[in-house]
Amino acid sequence: MVNYKSIKLSPGLYFVSTPIGSARDITLRALDILANADVLAAEDTRTLKKLLEIHGIHLKNRSLISYHDHNGSKARPKLLAYLKNGKSVAYASEAGTPLIADPGFSLLNEVLSMENDVTSAPGPCALIAALTVAGLPTDRFYFEGFLPNNKSQRELKFRGLKSHLGTLIFYESAIRLNDTLVIAKEVFGGDRQGVVCRELTKKFEDIQRGRLKELSEIYFDKNIKGEVVLLVAGAGNTDIDWSEIEQHVRDALKTMSVKDSAEAVAIAFNVPRRDIYQLALQIKSGGD
Ligand code: SAM
Repeated sequence: MVNYKSIKLSPGLYFVSTPIGSARDITLRALDILANADVLAAEDTRTLKKLLEIHGIHLKNRSLISYHDHNGSKARPKLLAYLKNGKSVAYASEAGTPLIADPGFSLLNEVLSMENDVTSAPGPCALIAALTVAGLPTDRFYFEGFLPNNKSQRELKFRGLKSHLGTLIFYESAIRLNDTLVIAKEVFGGDRQGVVCRELTKKFEDIQRGRLKELSEIYFDKNIKGEVVLLVAGAGNTDIDWSEIEQHVRDALKTMSVKDSAEAVAIAFNVPRRDIYQLALQIKSGGD
């Protein structure tokens, strides 16, 4: 039995999300698109071939074009030429959703500038899978993607996010996780909640929830493998660095109205507009 239908796809680019672990995590519509697109393109052609094989989809005489970070400028013109000729092109990342910490952004922009159609076949995405099970607030979140390799840059990145109210989500390599947790504990404070989601949807899925001081102990000196999403709870009221915010409001007031200053700083720090407005009014009126 096959799970896809024969359909006529309209011309355009289709971004297809693929499993982040379990091969059955693919939508029926994604299979329809992969089975019927005129041309297939993939970040990793071997991975896509394997996925097609699992789901009984034959490549037949269709082209399968490799498109990744290192060959984008060469591969893009080929894909654009197919689109110009009215073909349907399906693009898949190695895993998860294209463009999310993965290639596809330049391709998308060029396709949009040609006024060709772009469609999403949504599905698995590691950050959403992690957020769903973490147990941290989901109403507001911030996705940073991969953290920098350099330790002091990682620390700087965390410092910039310390007052952010939303749940923070990072893609991290297993090798660096223990170092990163130590830095996170130092910057956010050991009592902040964190969650490590490893190997989601795979056989050895492992989710550890706890305070950053506990998590950094759990992973201290541990040689772990696999793919990791790290989540850190957003700032509570006591974590917000009000002196830093005040300084920004003072600077903003030099060139902007109270309303605009409050708006700009509230957006930059992701803190309630009302609180910043009150602070700006106080500063403007000369109060402390
Ligand atoms: N485009 C993908 C998506 O939609 O999530 C992300 C691709 S990015 C190159 C790969 C990173 O995603 C990994 O280093 C890891 O941080 C995270 N990731 C991917 N699959 C995962 C999984 N099964 N469990 C935990 N994290 C995963």
